[in-house]
Amino acid sequence: MRGSIPGTSGTIDVAMHAIGIDIGGTSTKAGRVDETGQILEARQVPTPTQSPKALLDTLLSLVDSFNCREAPIGIGLGVPGLRSKETGVVEFSPNLPCLNGVSIEDTLSRRSGLPVVGANDAEMSAWGEFSIGAGVGSSEMACLTLGTGVGSGLILNGRPYAGHRGYAGELGHVTVDPAGPPCRCGNRGCLETVASASAIVTSARKRLDTDPTSTLHKLKAPLTAATIHEAALKGDRIARETLAGAGRYVGIACAALINILDLEVIVIGGGVAAAGEFLIEHVKSEVSARIYDQVPQSCRIVPATLGNNAGVIGAALRALEPAGKTQPR
Ligand SMILES: [Zn+2]
Repeated sequence: MRGSIPGTSGTIDVAMHAIGIDIGGTSTKAGRVDETGQILEARQVPTPTQSPKALLDTLLSLVDSFNCREAPIGIGLGVPGLRSKETGVVEFSPNLPCLNGVSIEDTLSRRSGLPVVGANDAEMSAWGEFSIGAGVGSSEMACLTLGTGVGSGLILNGRPYAGHRGYAGELGHVTVDPAGPPCRCGNRGCLETVASASAIVTSARKRLDTDPTSTLHKLKAPLTAATIHEAALKGDRIARETLAGAGRYVGIACAALINILDLEVIVIGGGVAAAGEFLIEHVKSEVSARIYDQVPQSCRIVPATLGNNAGVIGAALRALEPAGKTQPR
C-alpha cells in the first residue's frame, strides 16, 4: 500500500507508516516505521516511572515528535509485564510497577486520534524478528530476549500466540533448577534467575571464589555480562564456564519448548545474547541432549538480527496489519 499527499507540483508518493513504541523499565524506544519494517525515524527517552499519566504524556510527545507528512496508520505499543489480551490492562509489571492494574492504550488512542494495537513487549519483538529478522520464512517460532530479565514471545501458525488470557510465552519463569535461586515471581530456579544478565554476574562472582588466577579479578570496569563476554573472548576460563552454564539452562528451557510445540526456529536476542558462540553453542548441545534421539533436530537456534529495534519494528508492523487481523491467537 502506498499513499500520496498533495504537493505543489503534483503528488508526492509516501510509504504507509506507523509508530512503534517499546516501553522498557528504564528507557522507551519509538520509531516511525514503513510497511517493509524500515525505521524512518527513531527516538529514545528515559521511561517515566512515577505514574501512568507521566508515561502517557511522554508517549504522546514521542508520537508528536515525528515528522509525519501524512498521518501514521496507527500506533503499535509493546508493554512490559503480564497484559490481559481482552482489556489491555497490565496485571503485573515487575519492571514498571506504575502500570500495574492500568491500561494506557485507550487513553493513548483517544488523545492521539490514532488506533493503538497493544501487546506484551516480548510478543512485539518476536513479531519483528518473525516479519523481517531471523525468523523470516518460518511459521512456528519462539523469540527469547536475554537481558535484565528473560522474556519470550511465541509465533504459532504464523500468528502471535498470546494464550488464554494473554500471558503466554513466559519462558523466563519456567523452572530449570528446582533448587535454584528464589525468583521475583515467587518460584525458585526460574530461567530468569540463572540466565539473565544479573544472574550471569552472580554466577561469575561465585565461581571467582574458586579461581584466584581469573582475569575477572583484575577488571577495571564493573563486572557485567558484557565484561564477562570480553574476558571469555580472551580465553578466561571462569568467564567461559559462566556463559556455558547460562547457555545450558537456556537449552533446558528450549528443549521443553521444542518437545511441546515442534518449533521451526528459536531466535535468541537481548544483551546477553551478544555473548554469541559462548552461549548459543551450549544452548544447542543441551537441546540435542534433551530431545528425542529418533527425531532429527529440525529446529534452528539462531541469534536475533534486529538487535534493540525488534520491539519497535514488531509493534509498528502489527499496527500496519489490515484491520481485523491485529489480534493475537
Ligand atoms: Zn520466576
